[in-house]
Amino acid sequence: MGILIKGGKIVNADVSTVADVYCEDGVIKGIGLGLDVPTDTEIIDATGKLVMPGGIDPHTHMQLPFMGTVASEDFYTGTAAGLAGGTTMIIDFVIPSPQEPIMQAYEKWKDWASRAVSDYSFHVAITWWDDTVYEDMGRLVKEEGINSFKHFMAYKNAIMAADETLVNSFSRCLELGAMPTVHAENGELVYHLQKQLLAAGFTGPEAHPLSRPSQVEGEAANRAISIAQTIGLPLYLVHVSCKEAVDEIARARHNGQRVYGEVLAGHLELDDSVYQAEDFATAAAHVMSPPFRPKGHQEVLWKALQGGTLQTTATDHCCFCEDQKAAGKDDFSKIPNGTAGIEDRLMVLWDSGVNKGRLTENEFVSVTSTNTAKIFNLYPQKGSITEGADADIVIWDANKEHTISAKTHHQNIDFNIFEGRTVKGSPEITISQGKVVFREGQLMVEEGAGRYIKRPAFPTIFEAVKKHNEVNAPVAVTRSS
Ligand SMILES: [Zn+2]
Repeated sequence: MGILIKGGKIVNADVSTVADVYCEDGVIKGIGLGLDVPTDTEIIDATGKLVMPGGIDPHTHMQLPFMGTVASEDFYTGTAAGLAGGTTMIIDFVIPSPQEPIMQAYEKWKDWASRAVSDYSFHVAITWWDDTVYEDMGRLVKEEGINSFKHFMAYKNAIMAADETLVNSFSRCLELGAMPTVHAENGELVYHLQKQLLAAGFTGPEAHPLSRPSQVEGEAANRAISIAQTIGLPLYLVHVSCKEAVDEIARARHNGQRVYGEVLAGHLELDDSVYQAEDFATAAAHVMSPPFRPKGHQEVLWKALQGGTLQTTATDHCCFCEDQKAAGKDDFSKIPNGTAGIEDRLMVLWDSGVNKGRLTENEFVSVTSTNTAKIFNLYPQKGSITEGADADIVIWDANKEHTISAKTHHQNIDFNIFEGRTVKGSPEITISQGKVVFREGQLMVEEGAGRYIKRPAFPTIFEAVKKHNEVNAPVAVTRSS
């Protein structure tokens, strides 16, 4: 049975139009007025509502084994919470342990993700290097539809990729037409500062942001951008959190380099005063990396998103509950890093973005869905309300108020970094693969209904980069003797 969404305003990244949307067999079959549809079609009245592409969160960590524990949110609960917030697809991360065969890690994550209720895809982290990694990257791109590889420049003695790995992996990415992405923080400096702070008696969570100041991110952003420039390929920086990193991206883009930046809802909204909370649990609940930044950085991030220096928004959704965070009670560097937000991202960004005049409704769709779909080569299957696109849709009530709280959210974590905030603008209905999966606060999801979505290599970005490299290739000097 199909669904006809009637009378709503379709909001795409490029234009808003009042028209009906007919969905059948998981895809959008027709858009227009007075559509001829089968008699058993379910009619949804969307008069006065916005009909937008479902959100895509390009940065989540469901069920991640990390820092001696495992994230409390798994692919089932996490994708369900996403749907409750209007997010209909995630790109999660396969993160092999050092020396773990990449394909083995990939199979493990695929198994975990098979419980997802919405569509999903993966970035694969390159945490170490040898010839098998080189070969496996090729298999992943050519056979498995992976077109992006993540590199952690932080987390020394764990998953940190040293410069040698970055250079090897970026070179391989260029051969394959895959996008390298980086977590930009100088892991050596973080390690040094952590040891120094602990030795000086700073053991609490207030030391966490001191161990990772913004210049540590700026340095790594500059280094990754310079490596990408030298090798000659685009680059995507995940969770850009500070002015220093924004400045590096802006400089590179002004220089004609294809560099993309992602920002988290949390970094746009919160500052580092959260680490001054008197109770350990509250301060520790905010421990994530990069940390929330001193006041002032948030407005820089907003302006960078408005101005196009940053293109995508995400959450880095990685949930650890109070008992898990307690592992770092006597040593802040042992607090599992991560915060939640997959359910809240769209509402918080609508409230702070559209309601405050920073973003138009179309720009909101760009930064929550379409730009991610384009950069990671999912567009227009995802990120657009067009005929033939997947029927992943959020019907948005711009006037509906919602108070965010850990007591009522669907996320499997006992804390919410936006606790108590009342936002105006929230999802009324979420449709995933053409089925209503969230309506009037109720989830109607099916375990395992989510599909793994392949993302082919060689998007137009790479064709342009390769032409640019050809045009600018050095020519050997021919000498007569
Ligand atoms: Zn992350």
